[in-house]
Amino acid sequence: MYLKRLEVTGFKSFAAPLEVDFHKGVTSIVGPNGSGKSNVSDGIRWVLGEQSAKKLRGAKMEDVIFAGSDSRKKVNIAEVSLILDNEDGYMASEYSEISLTRRLYRTGESEYFINRKACRRKDIVDLLIDSGLGKEAYSMIGQGEVEQVLSSKPEDRRAMFEDAAGVLKYKSRKQESEKK
Ligand code: ATP
Ligand code: MG
Repeated sequence: MYLKRLEVTGFKSFAAPLEVDFHKGVTSIVGPNGSGKSNVSDGIRWVLGEQSAKKLRGAKMEDVIFAGSDSRKKVNIAEVSLILDNEDGYMASEYSEISLTRRLYRTGESEYFINRKACRRKDIVDLLIDSGLGKEAYSMIGQGEVEQVLSSKPEDRRAMFEDAAGVLKYKSRKQESEKK
C-alpha cells in the first residue's frame, strides 16, 4: 500500500485543481519559501482526520479554504483527496485503489467520501486506525516532533511505540466500549 496521488482544490494556497503523483519509495518536494510545500503535507494530514486548526498552521478550520490572492478571488470550498494504492490488500478494503476525500464549506459544513461515496468522518478514521495510518499513528511526523521523541520520558516514548505498532486501535476500541 502506498500513497499514489493527492488531489487538491481550494485548499490553502491551491486555488485551482492540482494533482500530485507519488511513486513507491522516497519522494521529496522542493520549492522556494512560501510556494506551498508544507501545504501539501497539511493536505495529507487534513484528510487523515486532523481536527486541530493549529496543527494545520491556522487559527480556525476555515483557514484551510483558499482565502484569495492578488490575482484570484477566494473560494468557498476546500477539497482534498488521497488516493491509496491497495493492490497488496494491506488496507481492510476489497478495492485495489482507495480514495479518501474531505471537503469543507465556508458555512462550516463538512463532507467525507470513501471511493467518492459519502460517508461519516468516523468511517475514514476507522479504516485508517485499522491500517495503522490514523492521525496519531506517526505515519506523519512533523517538524519538531523528532525532538519530542528524543527528549520525552521513557513512558511517553513507550506510548509512541505502542501507537506506531498498532496497539492504538485496540486501546481506542476499548475506550469506545467502555463508554457504551
Ligand atoms: P517554507 O519553505 O517557508 O517552509 P512552504 O513551501 O512550506 O515554505 P507553505 O507554508 O506551504 O510554504 O505555503 C505558505 C503560503 O500559503 C503562504 O503564501 C500563505 O499565504 C499561503 N496560504 C496558506 N493558507 C492559505 C489560504 N487559506 N488561502 C490562500 N493562501 C494561503
Ligand atoms: Mg514549509
